[in-house]
Formats: sequence, C-alpha cells, structure tokens
Amino acid sequence: MKQNGISRSKVVLILLIAVLLVFSGGVGSLLARGRGEDEPSVRRLNMGGGWVTGVYYPLAGSMSRIVHLHMDGVSLTVESSGASVVNSNLIGSGDLDLAIVQNDVASHAFNGRNAFDGNAISNMRGLFSLYPEPVQLIARAGSGINSPSDLRGKRVALGPLGSGAEVNSLKVLEAAGLTEGDLTAAERLEAGEAADYLRDGRLDAAFFTVAIGAAVISDLAVSQRVEVVNIDGRYAERLMQMEDFYAPVTIPEGTYTQVPQAQTVGVVSIVVAREDLPEQLVYDFVKAVFDNINVVHSAHAAGRMVTIQSALDGMTVPLHPGAERYLAEQGLRL
Ligand code: GLU
Repeated sequence: MKQNGISRSKVVLILLIAVLLVFSGGVGSLLARGRGEDEPSVRRLNMGGGWVTGVYYPLAGSMSRIVHLHMDGVSLTVESSGASVVNSNLIGSGDLDLAIVQNDVASHAFNGRNAFDGNAISNMRGLFSLYPEPVQLIARAGSGINSPSDLRGKRVALGPLGSGAEVNSLKVLEAAGLTEGDLTAAERLEAGEAADYLRDGRLDAAFFTVAIGAAVISDLAVSQRVEVVNIDGRYAERLMQMEDFYAPVTIPEGTYTQVPQAQTVGVVSIVVAREDLPEQLVYDFVKAVFDNINVVHSAHAAGRMVTIQSALDGMTVPLHPGAERYLAEQGLRL
C-alpha cells in the first residue's frame, strides 16, 4: 500500500512538471526566461499584399509558402489591402514588416512627396522588383471612351482607396487636362466591386494598375464586352514628362476575351521591407525566394516575370542591407 502511495505521488509530481513545461513553452523557454530573454520560438512576419482579385495577393501568398517550406522558425502572413499607398503607410507605422508596392508610390513615400507630403516613409527599404504593372483603363464596350479625354462627363472608378491605381488615375486625368470635377461620378471602389459595377452598367470605366491578365479584368471580360482604352501618344508623353516612373507597355491581343492589342504606360511593382528588420533575416528571405522562384512563377502568369536578372529594374528606394548582400553575391548592384 505504502509502495503504491509513493509511486502515485511521484506520478502526480511528474504530471505537474509536464503540465508546467507545456504551459510555459518548454525547457528552452524556461532557460531563456532565466536569462532574462523572452524570444518567441517563431519569428512571425507579415506582408501587405493587395487586392484579392489582383496579383500582389497570390504572389505574396507564394512567398508565404516559400517561407513556410524553407525558413525554419519563420512564418509569413499575407494581408489583403487597397495596396501601394496604404501598404507604404503601414510600413511607416511599423504595422507591416514587408509589402508589395508600386515603384512610383514607393518613391513618393520615401521622399515625402504627393500623398506623403510631410509624412516621408523614411524607414522603407527595397528588396527586389517584381514585374511591370500597366495602368489599365477599362471601359464598357460602346461607352464611347477612346482616349483619356473622353472620360469627361463619365462615371469612373479611380481605383480603391489607398491604392497606387488611384494615384495613377489622377495623373492620367491631369495629363488629359481633366479634374475629378469633370466626371459625372468619381468612385473609390474595391477592385472587385469596380468590376461588378462595370458589368452592371453602373460605371462607364474603371482604372486598374495591375499586372497584365489579372483576374479582376479577365473575369469581367468573360461576362461583359469591355475595351482597354489606349493611354498613348500625347497622353503617354505627358505622363512620362510628369514622372520618371512611367514607361510604355503593350497589352497583347487576346489577353482579355475579345479585346484587341492596347498601348498604355506602366510602373513596376517592388517588394519592400522595414529598415529595422534584421540583416540576416532579410538576406535569408530574399535568398529563399530566388532559390525557389518556381513557386512564385506558378502562382500567376505575371509571376514568371520575376527573375534575378530583373531584380533591380525600376527599384526606386535604397536597398535593405540583407537584400543588398544577397543581390551583390548574384552580381547585381543598384
Ligand atoms: N498596383 C495596385 C495598387 O497598388 C495593386 C495591384 C494588385 O493588388 O495586384 O494599386
């Protein structure tokens, strides 16, 4: 009986210790606390993607998968958002670790220009470039919009709140000598909603600065005849004079159902990070992405444009030291 009593109390003691270890996060953590450290065992990072119907979001998702598979002790969560402007502000406030943004917006943010006047996002650092993003002005077929000037008196979605698309649409209006006041309606709708409104006839046109072949436009073109309005000639020239970031882009025929080839201007999407992220962590992240670039390539057709050769094309902010080290090893310098 006594024998049994002793072994039972031993069992209870062992169980108590086991429970304590589980709830305290294990022996290592107990020791770490003993040393005055309280490091979580997983480094949780977040990345600002963009529209769920866009291309930032699936590409950021592919990078999250790479981190999960190839970076021990690190996780990456992706957040959908209006995109470039809001992502830049969240890098500035420290609420995002990483983000995808347009290179024009990144430059404005870093240098405290335009929407960032008096609020420079000086902690933003570049990691690598992704792909060219054309400014796509999509009109309902038959709306009579053949150039940006034809937007006068029309109902237009200028891009989601906090998007780079909105920044670009306002520049296009300016290049056409128009202001928002010249439109019958100027909407800031989430990208998928703008496509729905176009489909329902509640809008005449909508601006999307997004990779060629983005779902938001290709899905719309399947159910509603649309046109991609050319932003070329004097409009393109004006835009390129106004800002350094715009370059001509051709949207090939057949990209969208029954839509012929179109000519417009585009910017470049880039991955950025907060300056205070550890050098080694950023090095490991950039290396993991390029070592596993096939995962990015299979996330969306535009993902195939992400290559080490073009990793610094259109980079408009200083590089994070971790990215700089990895890219220098690949023979690339800004
Ligand atoms: N370029 C867009 C913007 O910043 C976002 C596009 C996307 O989510 O793929 O407005």
